[in-house]
Amino acid sequence: MDAASIFEKLGGGESEGFPHLHSPVFQTQEGTRYLRHPGVVAIAKPEVSIAGMRPFLEGFEEDLEFPQYVDDPTHLQSGAQLLKTAGQTCYASFGPKRTFNENAARYFANITSSGHGSVLEHASFSFFLYGISRSNTHEVVRHRAGTAFSQLSQRFVSGSVLRFIERLEYQDVPALHKRFEERVDSFAKEYADVTDELLALQTEGHPSLTAEAKTDLRKRVQQVARSVLPNETETTMVLTANVRAWRHMIEMRTDQHAESEIRDLFFRLYLCLVRMEPILFGDYEVESYPDGTYGVRTKWRKV
Ligand SMILES: Cc1cc2nc3c(=O)[nH]c(=O)nc-3n(C[C@H](O)[C@H](O)[C@H](O)COP(=O)(O)OP(=O)(O)OC[C@H]3O[C@@H](n4cnc5c(N)ncnc54)[C@H](O)[C@@H]3O)c2cc1C
Repeated sequence: MDAASIFEKLGGGESEGFPHLHSPVFQTQEGTRYLRHPGVVAIAKPEVSIAGMRPFLEGFEEDLEFPQYVDDPTHLQSGAQLLKTAGQTCYASFGPKRTFNENAARYFANITSSGHGSVLEHASFSFFLYGISRSNTHEVVRHRAGTAFSQLSQRFVSGSVLRFIERLEYQDVPALHKRFEERVDSFAKEYADVTDELLALQTEGHPSLTAEAKTDLRKRVQQVARSVLPNETETTMVLTANVRAWRHMIEMRTDQHAESEIRDLFFRLYLCLVRMEPILFGDYEVESYPDGTYGVRTKWRKV
């Protein structure tokens, strides 16, 4: 199956050119909410115009024909255009002998096959992520180079946004699914009960729970109460990365040996990225694994 068909099969959609794969919310009988898959929403991509380069290009001998660079008739996606212009700046490839936009796929195949990955660092893409567990994001944030993270604070937000993640392995096994539902009900109750007791102590003026500012008061309680929450607690995050970092993370985290929840997350991110930038992620081939999940394979790993 190709990326576009899987995107459709998973119910993918697009808002104003930004793809998303949403994740339905379930509830236990007690009303505890949980999700079974990551939700990924593209929220930022490059905005590119090279038109302003014209006066610079006109400053050279006429027979070099540099100004035609900004009139290339083939439109590229913004990330591909940005990276191609960055790469072509290195060799002043602006005249008629340059690689034209219609051959951009060949241009990027040269970059990826020769390992000139620094060019890929110019274009960044941001995603809003939800339906992911704290154990999943503990692994995600290990990626340092070319990435930026903003994650839900368990010290700041209250139990009103508390939701959980049911692992793939529990979903079709009635006994494990039942245990999961019972467990998250009890965690939600434990969190609420501990919070109530801490609030009562705070009202009595317990020294380690008091503070002057109102937000500090709330943090003093929630930073303690969160200790009862499990790895399968949901978190949310905005994750930004440049194309070089996205490629590296997708390759590592959709590998068959990667953990199944992080594989689910990064495969979904790949589906959205390849939809926005088919050239920059065009060397990836989708692989099906025996457990019904997917990953990607490329000849040009870790550009
Ligand atoms: C299947 C799997 C199992 C894992 N198991 C464990 C585990 O048991 N325990 C554990 O602690 N971690 C584990 N990890 C995490 C792993 O060790 C890395 O920390 C994580 O994958 C981040 O990748 P990265 O090091 O390539 O960093 P990134 O930040 O993604 O960096 C990208 C690349 O930039 C370069 N780079 C980045 N920072 C530096 C630097 N400071 N110095 C020099 N070069 C740099 C490296 O070439 C690096 O590969 C596992 C990861 C995977 C995929």
